[in-house]
Amino acid sequence: MRISDRLATLVSDGDGWGVFYKARALVAEGVAVTELTIGEHDIPTHPRILEEMHRAARGGHTGYAAVPGTDALRDKVAAHVTERSGVPTGRGNVLITPGGQSGLFAAHMLACAPGDRGLFIDPYYATYPGTIRAAGALPVPVAARAEDGFQPDPARIAASAAGATSLLINTPNNPTGILYDRDRLQGLVDLTRTRGLWLISDEVYDTMVWDGRHLSPRALPGARDHTLVVGSMSKSHAMTGSRIGWVIGPEPAISALIDLATHTTYGVPGYIQDAALFALDEGAWLEEEIAAPFRRRRDLAAGIVAGCPVVQSAPAQGAMYLMLDIRRTGLSGLGFAEALLDRHRIAVMPGESFGRAAAGHVRVALTVEDAALARALDVLLRFAEDLCREAAE
Ligand code: PMP
Repeated sequence: MRISDRLATLVSDGDGWGVFYKARALVAEGVAVTELTIGEHDIPTHPRILEEMHRAARGGHTGYAAVPGTDALRDKVAAHVTERSGVPTGRGNVLITPGGQSGLFAAHMLACAPGDRGLFIDPYYATYPGTIRAAGALPVPVAARAEDGFQPDPARIAASAAGATSLLINTPNNPTGILYDRDRLQGLVDLTRTRGLWLISDEVYDTMVWDGRHLSPRALPGARDHTLVVGSMSKSHAMTGSRIGWVIGPEPAISALIDLATHTTYGVPGYIQDAALFALDEGAWLEEEIAAPFRRRRDLAAGIVAGCPVVQSAPAQGAMYLMLDIRRTGLSGLGFAEALLDRHRIAVMPGESFGRAAAGHVRVALTVEDAALARALDVLLRFAEDLCREAAE
């Protein structure tokens, strides 16, 4: 039987996922590998959140929940967004989704008709091109160059904007760990408004900011009517497996997305929503507790890398990653990551797996305990220095 093109084109983009799968296969065979690949916490969901989930499920919140989300959770998320961004936000601006990924898909279904072009910034989170394709649109990458500190360039975006209906951005950024600065964000807000594009802002790392404060582009002048914010509790509350997130946007957009949800997800389990409400009600201490190890490891890792003459790190201002420039070794990110896994049993992601703009880099996830991270970084940097020395001989 034929599989529709809509699904057949959902292959993952980017080179280098082989390193991740090889590391997983080695681990399955019992080989000790330090995995610094995907962005998942090394701690489980907080026991108090799980207790609340249990209480809600035992209390009977196991039937169909309201498709847009429970009133209580939508109100809580609206209040949370209002408080954090300063933008007045009400229940009608919030759709609860099963995780950020579902929100990204919904936002593109809203913004893009079949045949439209959906812009996104390269380097990018792995699902972006496929998500845009799943909405029937053509994914168009726009490079944020290493030479510009991986900041997106409104002029380059403008040059690719013909036929586009959306621009997807992500700050704090996966894979680079950088924050977009205010001027760039304002430039993107202005550009998307004047060109009639939806600005889709992926803010799933908004509680993991190490330098300065998170800035949502929705809070900037002129943004509110054409910006959709995708949020999630996966990273902020170590709830990756619970699948809980949201889309924030203008009321007519949210109303259209509720129709989409009715025909796709049909909502999010009520006991998960109750647990999410509990977690948000706890306030900032819980988010800070979850973010703290990553802040500490960022400092630790930045200190170690700073002592290396041949490898540079992009400014790691947020999220769970360090993007290392290994171009002076003469290897590609892929070649470096493969050799590091083969020789030293350390798995990092080749930059190329996040797009061409990250070629010659590797992404290190700060997702193992501090001592193991420090050891792995020492080995990685010594390996890079040896390669440089061999290349010079
Ligand atoms: N956006 C980015 C940038 C991510 O890194 C991730 C997960 N790694 C997601 C979205 C999706 O997260 P979730 O669906 O778990 O909320």
